[in-house]
Amino acid sequence: MTVSTSSGYDITAYATTEKQFKFKKIEYHADALTDYQVYIKIKACGVCHTDMDFAGIPDTVLGHEAVGEIVETGSKITSIKKGDLVGFAYMKESCLDCLLCHSGEDIMCRKRKMFPEGLNNGYAHGAVCDGRFVYKIPEGIEAKHAGPLMCAGSTVFSAMYNANVNPTHRIAIVGIGGLGHLGLQFARAWGCHVTAISHSRDKEEEALKFGAHEYLCSKDFTPEFVEKTEKFDFILSTVAVDHDYSTFLDLLVPNGEFKLVGIPPNDIKFGPVLPFLLDQKKFTGAILGGRKINTLLLKFAARHNIRPQIEEFPLSAQGIEDAIHHLHAGKARYRGVLIAPEDEEVEKVEAVEEAQR
Ligand SMILES: [Zn+2]
Ligand SMILES: [Zn+2]
Repeated sequence: MTVSTSSGYDITAYATTEKQFKFKKIEYHADALTDYQVYIKIKACGVCHTDMDFAGIPDTVLGHEAVGEIVETGSKITSIKKGDLVGFAYMKESCLDCLLCHSGEDIMCRKRKMFPEGLNNGYAHGAVCDGRFVYKIPEGIEAKHAGPLMCAGSTVFSAMYNANVNPTHRIAIVGIGGLGHLGLQFARAWGCHVTAISHSRDKEEEALKFGAHEYLCSKDFTPEFVEKTEKFDFILSTVAVDHDYSTFLDLLVPNGEFKLVGIPPNDIKFGPVLPFLLDQKKFTGAILGGRKINTLLLKFAARHNIRPQIEEFPLSAQGIEDAIHHLHAGKARYRGVLIAPEDEEVEKVEAVEEAQR
């Protein structure tokens, strides 16, 4: 249970341990708020693939798709108030004073402070954050659906926004998972012709439901198949596996762009460089959005009724372990979200879990 005091907050969180994917409950004290800080009571937090990259570091609080209710604001925070539903994401702070910060590129700020630095992350019942880096969730989007928009949604939206995707484009989303299923929805709402590309054949029905006009299985990508396929202006790869990148470059129109947001396990081998020169094809990567992108993405998602398809787990040590094992086993359809029990439920759930562990 998280307890507020006049001198700050005693916060309950769940931290990694020496044992991989094993979590423990911790308590820590956060000092009284400074002028720009806010205290958020967390209601839901998405479980992202990137969380697992840090699961091997003991005593780390994970979670960067957190959404909750504002309990208290510092004296200089005016844009959000007590009771507002807000989300926070990967970037926690930036200098707010460099050219990148001034031009809406704060996510590139050289003084940015990123997840998982600090204990104020999402696998917790509360967090003290810089209120200038939290985002008001639009009316109509529930906390559990807003969570995955903060990283998965932000990443695909940012990739498309920064690639200047326009409605006349044919675009392909590679990988129909946590990011990809949102990518299909964003691309369809953008007005594009949308193609889902997956290595499996069993997600077609759902991909079409998420907004794809057509579905391709990458196992069919023979040179003959690639030759006769109508090419794409933009291909967004959301999967964390290696590709045959030259095949994807062949699937682009001249001036087309292949953008990577899923992190492949190995160094990228491009093959021939001529497509970059003769056909001016682009190979780029993208991180999630900062303040400008996240603000736009939430408005866009609200306007077009874009929501993640989620599976719910309780926000507890056991719930986190279950959600991470589920994700690790490749079973997530399509985003696991940790849901905080109501206050009176927290201690009951913890007591039961403690007895079982
Ligand atoms: Zn993430
Ligand atoms: Zn800066």
